[in-house]
Amino acid sequence: MTIAIIAHDGKKAEMVAFIKDHINILKKNEIKLIATGTTGSHLSKSGLTVKKMQSGPKGGDAQIASRLVEGKVNMVIFFRDPLGKHPHEVDVNMLMRLCDVHNVPLATNPAAAGLFFEALGN
Ligand code: PGA
Repeated sequence: MTIAIIAHDGKKAEMVAFIKDHINILKKNEIKLIATGTTGSHLSKSGLTVKKMQSGPKGGDAQIASRLVEGKVNMVIFFRDPLGKHPHEVDVNMLMRLCDVHNVPLATNPAAAGLFFEALGN
C-alpha cells in the first residue's frame, strides 16, 4: 500500500510529528510513502523513507494525482493550511477531485488521518 503525504508550509512540522507518531502502523502494514518535494525532504530529514516528487508549486501534487489515477496511490494525507494562499491551488483542487473520482481516501487534517490509521490497526 502506498500513501501520499503532502503538507502546506504551515503544516509541515505537524505532518512530520504525525507520521512519526504512527511509524509502527506504517511499518507493520508495509506502507510506502510518496510526498511532494519539500514535505518529502522534511520527512527524510527526520529519518523516514519516502519517495519524493517535485515540490507542490512545481507540479508535485499533479505527479501524485497522476499516480493516483493509475491506481498506485491508496490513500492521501494532505494537511492543508486553510489560512494561507497557494499559487498551485488549482493543482490541489485537481488532486482532491481525483480522490473523489477514484474513491481514494483523503484526510486533510490530523483528526481524520488518525482515524484512517486506526482503521489500519495498531
Ligand atoms: P511541498 O508541496 O511539499 O513541495 O511544499 C506541498 C504543496 O502542495 O503545497
